[in-house]
Amino acid sequence: MDYIAHWIGGAERAGGSGRVGPVFNPATGEQIAEVALASAGEVAAAVAVAQEAAKEWRTASLSKRSAVLFKFRELLAERSGELAAIVTTEHGKVLADAGGEIARGLENVEFATGIPHLMKGSFSEQAATGVDVYSIRQPLGVVAGITPFNFPAMVPLWMCATAIAAGNAFVLKPSEKDPSAALFLARLWKEAGLPDGVFNVVHGDKEAVDAILVHPGIAAVSFVGSTPIAKYIYETGTAHGKRVQALGGAKNHMIVLPDAELDAAADAAISAGYGAAGERCMAISVVVAVGDIADPLVEAIAARLPKVRIGDGSDPSSEMGPLISAQHRDKVADYVTKGEAAGATVVADGRERENLPERGYFLGATLLDNVTPEMTVYTDEIFGPVLSVVRVETYREAVDLVNNNEYGNGTAIFTRDGGAARQFQFDVDAGMVGVNVPIPVPVAYYSFGGWKASLFGDSHMYGPDGIHFYTRGKVVTSRWPDPGTSSVDLGFPQTR
Ligand code: NAD
Repeated sequence: MDYIAHWIGGAERAGGSGRVGPVFNPATGEQIAEVALASAGEVAAAVAVAQEAAKEWRTASLSKRSAVLFKFRELLAERSGELAAIVTTEHGKVLADAGGEIARGLENVEFATGIPHLMKGSFSEQAATGVDVYSIRQPLGVVAGITPFNFPAMVPLWMCATAIAAGNAFVLKPSEKDPSAALFLARLWKEAGLPDGVFNVVHGDKEAVDAILVHPGIAAVSFVGSTPIAKYIYETGTAHGKRVQALGGAKNHMIVLPDAELDAAADAAISAGYGAAGERCMAISVVVAVGDIADPLVEAIAARLPKVRIGDGSDPSSEMGPLISAQHRDKVADYVTKGEAAGATVVADGRERENLPERGYFLGATLLDNVTPEMTVYTDEIFGPVLSVVRVETYREAVDLVNNNEYGNGTAIFTRDGGAARQFQFDVDAGMVGVNVPIPVPVAYYSFGGWKASLFGDSHMYGPDGIHFYTRGKVVTSRWPDPGTSSVDLGFPQTR
């Protein structure tokens, strides 16, 4: 069985804690590897290596850093097929989807190649007579990333490309459920010429995370995962003096107004609801049907469901793979059972096993109609292939539903009415909004982040916010007086 080691100082390092975790192939249910789980001491060893590397790396010129980023980008593009296969094996998502997450991660690397431009400060000549003022941004030192299972390549790339380009050293604690993508990235960084110790991977569970949160040598923590853990990370990390951005869970609503193009809305609901088996933080989990579009919309979604091909993600004909674990599959199925008991109409039942592969953690695509806001299938993040339809009469009711929800990650409106879409963008309490776009993940030169319980901290991830998060500002006020022109003045400095 494969053994997945840490990556510290530019080389694999076997775990020394005596603890390991199992890694499964969710399409077969077989254990395929064991991953080292770090102790606090091992985290400290990685941080010590990163601290040394950070001192040197921050002195690297912007063009040198940019060159490493360009090379990393080239290698990642060339070898994305290999990485996609790793993601599919450990996560279960279909190959095309794994390729998609790598493509989105690549965009973040491309953004970071522009670091010379992104690190520019501002300059004010003659702020006072003979005095110039300018601002610069400098790296923080060692920063850490703690990432979820559902995007084992993209989310680490959201973080490390910007952090490293800005001159920091990075310690990644990937999900212990699909840890191999992180090691693949580590090898590419090395091949791209990144000095040893600037990018490190420490595998682990709560013990490793807690060690990161309290370590005085780590200046900032980026987290992506579920809301309860995000809140814990934010509270613990900030209590230990760190800058923290902690992105949490989601319950994304897609509002369909009566004038929407029906086929486009139904196609979008299928793609965004069942892609990656619903294990996306930007998945649509609630379709809000406004007025008399509800019946035809439910019918159109239901008609498309039997065509969704479910199977092993490594089979190119599969469109939807398994869930991450048997336990998670059972939890999702249980939500469907509870929803049905609470009065939801089961239009398509993914619990029926006839058309599902025999092995692995598969659940069929499920459609629930007549869901109401008190049902747990509505209130909780399910993270599975379950789409709930809530019927409302008016636009206002639809917006109130979204705004009263605990989460505020993404949302979308489907309509042909530009005025309604514009009003929605103004009214809605969510960080990312789609207009006839069901999964509005911002391109790399904007930043990604939700509102409410979907994000703790004030910084969104990657893009301009990422540069800001991984650097701190300094303002320099300078004077170069001619010799013999200075005098003593105990008054407060004036600018005139
Ligand atoms: P998770 O919260 O269980 O785990 C995330 C990370 O936290 C992992 O590295 C894990 O090892 C660590 N962790 C887990 N339990 C911990 C604990 N008790 N103490 C300290 N650390 C702990 O999340 P997951 O199941 O891996 O990922 C799915 C979740 O991530 C969903 O809720 C999804 O919405 C969310 N997510 C959010 C975004 C976003 O951008 N907002 C993106 C992707 C995923």
